[in-house]
Parts: sequence; structure tokens; C-alpha cells
Amino acid sequence: MVFCRGCSKELHESAPSCPQCGAVQAVAIKCAEESGWMGIVSAIFAGLAFLGSVGVEGAHNKDAILGVVILGVGSLILGAISLQQHKPLKTLSIVAVTFAALGLLVLLGNTQFN
Ligand SMILES: [Zn+2]
Repeated sequence: MVFCRGCSKELHESAPSCPQCGAVQAVAIKCAEESGWMGIVSAIFAGLAFLGSVGVEGAHNKDAILGVVILGVGSLILGAISLQQHKPLKTLSIVAVTFAALGLLVLLGNTQFN
């Protein structure tokens, strides 16, 4: 259980707003839950983008290239936001951004020769 930000009554932690006073709860709850997910998602995207960029070598599959670009850019954005907002897992975010950038560079290098 959590307590309402407006009237301090108990409510279910997944409740988006208070049934008593209508105060929106999502922001406070999200802050606690979101603390580290950006860095983790950024790292996962970066890993996939990096692996994809290496795997896409010599391939003419535009979908695969596009997928790697989306993952890489998504990772960069999430990692950058995570760092800018001083979220936890800072090291993970830095590693993620680095790998995402590397992945995009490798992809650029690979696709230029095709
Ligand atoms: Zn309330």
C-alpha cells in the first residue's frame, strides 16, 4: 500500500489517481519504479545494436540495418536522458551509450562499402 499525495489516505500502489480526492499518483510512484530502468533498457538496446551492427556486415537487409539504427539511437537517447537526470546505474548508462555509438559507427562503416 502507498499513501495518497493529496489526502494521505491509503490506496493501492498501482492506482493512477486517488479515489478519495482524485490526486494523481502516477508521478510519485513512477519516480521510484523508473529509477534504473532507463539505464538497463539503454544497455540492452546498446548490446543488441552492437551485436546487430557486427552481424549485419555484408548484408543487404535494410530491415536489419534499420533495426540496428533504431536500437542504437534508442539506446543513445535513453542513456543520455538517464545520465542527464542523474539516474542510478550511471556506469551502465555510460557503457550503454558507448556501445550504442560504437554499434552505429560499425554499422556506418559496414554499410558504406555495400
Ligand atoms: Zn487522496
